[in-house]
Amino acid sequence: MRAIIKASAEPGLTVTDVPEPECGANDVLIRVHHAGVCGTDVHIAEWDEWAQGRIRPPVVVGHEFAGEVVELGAGVGDQFHIGQLVTAEGHIVCGHCRRCRTGNGHICTNTSIIGVDRDGAFTEYLAMPASNVMPLGNIPTTVGSIMDAIGNAFHTVLTADIPGNTVLVAGCGPIGCFAVGVARAAGATKVIATDINPFRLDLAGKMGADVLIDPSSEDVVKRVFDETDGEGADVVCEMSGHPTALAQSFQAARLGGQVQLLGIPKEPVTINFSTDIIFKGLTVYGVIGRRMYDTWLQMQTFLSSGLFDPMPAVTHTFPLEDIDKALEAIHSGNAGKVILEIGSK
Ligand code: ZN
Repeated sequence: MRAIIKASAEPGLTVTDVPEPECGANDVLIRVHHAGVCGTDVHIAEWDEWAQGRIRPPVVVGHEFAGEVVELGAGVGDQFHIGQLVTAEGHIVCGHCRRCRTGNGHICTNTSIIGVDRDGAFTEYLAMPASNVMPLGNIPTTVGSIMDAIGNAFHTVLTADIPGNTVLVAGCGPIGCFAVGVARAAGATKVIATDINPFRLDLAGKMGADVLIDPSSEDVVKRVFDETDGEGADVVCEMSGHPTALAQSFQAARLGGQVQLLGIPKEPVTINFSTDIIFKGLTVYGVIGRRMYDTWLQMQTFLSSGLFDPMPAVTHTFPLEDIDKALEAIHSGNAGKVILEIGSK
């Protein structure tokens, strides 16, 4: 079967043929229809410091996907059926560590990620543990293929108090754009979005942001206070990991507000803890992955009911063979979410 692999410890990805996977006793074998391309895949392609420390080639890359059930392991039972459209949580967790046993599988110490630690989804067939597989119902596989990234946005936004509140989304890459739409759908009264990239800021507007701020030409903190009657934002979702945006996120939050941190800074960041966090009585939440499986169930409800539509933030679709074009589109900055079409009907 065709697959995109990291073939060796150097920059680049290779499109090649690999053997089809076996379907284990507790696995569901899935024919991939669509797959989402993520910043992580860009890091793996570019072979940056993180990738060099984590990836052990050769490995099939890709961790966001959706497709059709084609085989069920003997131990899977009857909760899935052949032909069913599904996606899956790409973090395979142990189920027996202290985190897993207390309902916190998203921080399992034994996590193995598809497309990173084991073979992934940029290929025609993929076997996943049944416990990770999520039925799509009426959700199309284009949307299903990016539910991993959408789930990051749901996790970020819905672990804060949104209804009736003002939400600042700092950084409007694909997950930031999704966060704008989730905040809108969950009943935020005003959604303020920032990004230095005009293309991404425009996408945030299409996803429902009321106020768009370009931090390179405007004082973000001042504008947020102007937009909130001098109070500051009730909830801040920091999606960029940029040191300046991080500092501004705490400054732009209201007294007693909530700051949700998803963006990953490359280096340690200087924050004024006394004036900008402690004296303000802020609550700070670190977002990693998706809560298993609260986030997924919330996401299924919002997507299948039509409350939340991610498609305005999806800008490009490429066939599997054109992974280099997909990476180029992301690298250019003039892209929202990018999807690969693999075995779609
Ligand atoms: Zn665990």
